[in-house]
Amino acid sequence: MVAGTIAAVVLAGATGFVGYALGAAVGLVVGLVVGGVAGAVFGWAVATARPYDFSAGIGIFRYVVDLTWSLPNTLIGAVYLTGNLIGGNRVERHYSLHSGCVQLTRGVFPRINGVSYLTTIGTVIAGVAPAVHAHEHGHVLQARIFGPFYVPLVLVNYALATVIPFWWLYHDHSRYPIRKFGAYFMDGVYPHVWNEAWCYRVYGPPR
Ligand SMILES: [Zn+2]
Repeated sequence: MVAGTIAAVVLAGATGFVGYALGAAVGLVVGLVVGGVAGAVFGWAVATARPYDFSAGIGIFRYVVDLTWSLPNTLIGAVYLTGNLIGGNRVERHYSLHSGCVQLTRGVFPRINGVSYLTTIGTVIAGVAPAVHAHEHGHVLQARIFGPFYVPLVLVNYALATVIPFWWLYHDHSRYPIRKFGAYFMDGVYPHVWNEAWCYRVYGPPR
């Protein structure tokens, strides 16, 4: 409960501060409302689904990192969590418990060619498919390592890989032939962006 409340206050405080810096009084109010709602939702998830194991050093470390260095990622994840819950998604408590992440029961993408894709933003994982949980946890780890630089570094790589398909040179064209735009993105751009290449290589699933 205390951990959830602290998380909510830190998130609301951070967005309030950024809002004030960008737009004075109006910005402060907007920031406090956005961060207050998302922070309250995330704080509720921290208190009830208990993703952080406070009896272990790693749990405390993750919590502190998520509310300091990786706070921008945690904030985006909190907004993502809020949107998912509004849309009818639910917190999956079994996989959330002490995992360092808040996991949701449903993914946000429809299945593509029979494959269900989980989507991780900040510390929030949407979807359940045990074979790829290690991969998704890899993205959470990346966010904790790169902190405020994580999302910009990923977005820049997506933009570059889309406009300049450098990956075409080492792409496995026999296993993943690219003849349509959908495949260009899902089999070309997406798996070759640095954070995905890393997680597929280290955590799988094999592709
Ligand atoms: Zn991934």
